[in-house]
Amino acid sequence: MPDYDILIAGAGLGGLAAASCLMKAGHRVRIYEQAPQLAEVGAGIQISANAMHVLRDLGLEPAIRRIGVQPEAYVFRLHDTGEVLQRFSLAADHERIHGAPYTQMHRADFHEILAARARAFDPDVVQLNKKVAGFTETKSGIELHFADGGSVKGDLLIGADGLKSAVRRQLFGDAVATYTGDAVWRLTVPIERIPEDIRLEKAMTLFLGSGGHGVCYYLRSGMLVNFVGCVETDDIDEESWTVKYPWERLMADYVGWHPKLLAILNAADKDQIYRWSLFSRPPTRVWSSRRVTLLGDSAHPTLPYLAQGAAMAIEDGAVLARALAMENNIGAALDLYQRNRVDRTTRIVEQSTANRALFHLRSVDEMRAAFAKRNEGADRNAWLYSYNPLTVELR
Ligand SMILES: Cc1cc2nc3c(=O)[nH]c(=O)nc-3n(C[C@H](O)[C@H](O)[C@H](O)COP(=O)(O)OP(=O)(O)OC[C@H]3O[C@@H](n4cnc5c(N)ncnc54)[C@H](O)[C@@H]3O)c2cc1C
Repeated sequence: MPDYDILIAGAGLGGLAAASCLMKAGHRVRIYEQAPQLAEVGAGIQISANAMHVLRDLGLEPAIRRIGVQPEAYVFRLHDTGEVLQRFSLAADHERIHGAPYTQMHRADFHEILAARARAFDPDVVQLNKKVAGFTETKSGIELHFADGGSVKGDLLIGADGLKSAVRRQLFGDAVATYTGDAVWRLTVPIERIPEDIRLEKAMTLFLGSGGHGVCYYLRSGMLVNFVGCVETDDIDEESWTVKYPWERLMADYVGWHPKLLAILNAADKDQIYRWSLFSRPPTRVWSSRRVTLLGDSAHPTLPYLAQGAAMAIEDGAVLARALAMENNIGAALDLYQRNRVDRTTRIVEQSTANRALFHLRSVDEMRAAFAKRNEGADRNAWLYSYNPLTVELR
């Protein structure tokens, strides 16, 4: 099996997971991250079995079980009365059906676990303060150029540098970003601040309202509640996790919503409310040149309405490592990788976009009718969560 010097731009969840998959397969890897230190924002992330297979293969399952929560169920409720529109079982059922758990975690905890795993393979794998400015590709290799003027050489470059990827920009130009019409609120609240009688069950709860929805779940063994709320608005701001907004603006968007959701918003630190404007980018089918490819959000930016962006990035890393092992040159391996990832990631991106319409229906009658016609659990179990990137046939 060939082994390569692999350069990765970006130490997000996707870049870190890919680095470990590639080092496990015997490659030498360096990740170049623009930030001065490794960090993730204070929000939740859900990881279903399809990505968990890879994390288990990297030996991370015990650590993930320690810090995560396995929700009992996925529950769709009306925003005001809390009426259950649909519910499917997670926890033991998800693990029984797919052979791996569905876990909800704090992003910072998850990022730390991934970074520690990568550094256990090689303590110098992550190079900080290295903003990628561009690359030069030749027949025999890649030279990666940094904003500080330095450069490094390798055999293969992976752009895992997120939504605004510099690697993607040089390969194909910037993806066209269109405002979706939605802003996303995010906050977390320590559970002890919420009176016991108005706490939500230990589930993934999605409240659906007219022109908005709210997602609530638990983190850190149930000690923290995570809230993510999408609302339709013409007030376009930055596409950034770190823009703070007044708590009063958040509350104005949720007037009349269910008391259990409002109890979370009321208990939030009023100076720790963040809002992000959500943009969509169309899926593309070409991600690679002969020695450069993309992975995660740089390849297939998605809306968060199916909670699969990071899961797809983790799947990408595992499939790319397998493709490099199966082909005896990099170009053929990148073809194999892309060919086997494009249909799945496009389907997820399109389904995530379609969920926006489902989650924002205008009337209760429309919501009841839409959910009466579908079986979310059976559908997702059939194609989404059942994919195993370690064993799926690569053609
Ligand atoms: C509200 C919300 C909720 C979500 N919930 C879920 C969920 O529950 N489950 C799920 O699977 N997904 C979820 N996602 C999606 C998920 O967060 C992303 O898909 C995932 O983080 C993408 O990882 P990435 O590594 O590709 O990119 P990123 O996490 O963006 O990492 C990119 C890294 O590259 C670095 N970088 C950027 N430019 C450069 C450069 N020029 N040089 C060097 N470094 C650079 C950045 O600093 C960063 O560290 C959610 C997204 C949102 C917005």
